[in-house]
Amino acid sequence: MISVEEAQARILCNSSRLSEEQVYLLDATGRVLARDLRASIDLPPFDNSSMDGYAIHAGDSLDAHEAHPIALTVDGLVQAGHPAMNPLPARSARKIMTGAPLPPEADAVVAIEEVERRESCIVLHHPVKRGSLIRQRGQDTRQGATLLAAGTVLNSARIGLLASQGVILVPVTRKPRVAILATGDELVEPGQTLLPGQIPNSNSYALSAAVMESGGIALRYPAVADRREAVAEALHQAASEADIVLSSGGVSVGDYDLVKSVLQTMGQLDFWRVDMKPGKPLASGFLGKTPFLGLPGNPVSALVTFELFARPLIRSLLGDTDWPRPVISLPLAQEFSEISDRRHYVRVAIRADANGALMAWPTGPQDSHLQTSWTNAQGLMIIPPHQGRLPQGSIWPVMLLKA
Ligand code: AMP
Ligand code: MG
Repeated sequence: MISVEEAQARILCNSSRLSEEQVYLLDATGRVLARDLRASIDLPPFDNSSMDGYAIHAGDSLDAHEAHPIALTVDGLVQAGHPAMNPLPARSARKIMTGAPLPPEADAVVAIEEVERRESCIVLHHPVKRGSLIRQRGQDTRQGATLLAAGTVLNSARIGLLASQGVILVPVTRKPRVAILATGDELVEPGQTLLPGQIPNSNSYALSAAVMESGGIALRYPAVADRREAVAEALHQAASEADIVLSSGGVSVGDYDLVKSVLQTMGQLDFWRVDMKPGKPLASGFLGKTPFLGLPGNPVSALVTFELFARPLIRSLLGDTDWPRPVISLPLAQEFSEISDRRHYVRVAIRADANGALMAWPTGPQDSHLQTSWTNAQGLMIIPPHQGRLPQGSIWPVMLLKA
């Protein structure tokens, strides 16, 4: 039995980033940038006003004082979206709107609210500093500087940054195609009438959704019967169509748990069993060159092992440089007494107590068939093996399930 860290390292060591494709800017939302992008223009592209006001020469205002106001002649107006016209003459002011280009030779802007308007003049009662209310060209980004690095996940802020650079086609890593094979004679499609002993194939749907949430394309296959030839045929087909093959069920020690031995015959088993609860029976290996993860069948085990092993693999094929979930320390809101001889990933809800301090609440009994223990969780509290009862208030690391 190997540790979670070793299992992760072995799964990721052979994974390399997939090829890139160009997508339209908005379709790049949530995708991973495949190459460093450099700024093609300065941002802001020109000096401009940060408020509605008057562009002036700061030097003209040096001696302004409550007792000695200074009047400047208003020589026109610059509107956003229009050029600034001729240079600003001495002892003049030009009305300027937010975002409008600064007239040549002007070096400060004074806000409308700060001046007194008298017919064709403005009157200043105090000096204005050079550079006031001016957004300088290149202050945000300089032409040629790295704008976004390869491996960055494109969110709304970054999409906006690309748009302001005029980028409309974005090089992103293509999405990994992830085959999902659920095994088990008991499985029927959700919605079908259940005969005695049958259950809906919920893992196929849960794992497909998890693949999509992780940035992959889910290829959902029909449930596979617990027969050696059926498992072999399904694995063979999936490996030829996908970048990653995931299965659920059939990796434990039951008489009909065939996935591991079929994998050994058709491909290569790298390891089986990880020191964790839930999810000990995890089989990892290759079908030809295609990475394969045999996830356990219990619904919570399937999703927890997906989170710890399949999601990192998908993110690293995408070239995401920042895939690990944040881990924070949180106190237990109540005593926890389920003792485990393996590292226990306890599903917890995270809520503030009456004083506003964040606490972790175990989501009820933690058996791996109890789906609500997972649906109500926002984090996984990581408890080392062989702990006794964990007292209320004791502090443990919690992996956050959403960044
Ligand atoms: P197994 O590892 O195949 O023995 O499955 C362990 C448990 O998970 C059994 O109770 C199965 O019925 C259940 N299970 C296996 N596959 C699925 C699935 N696709 N959807 C829901 N439950 C499943
Ligand atoms: Mg089974």
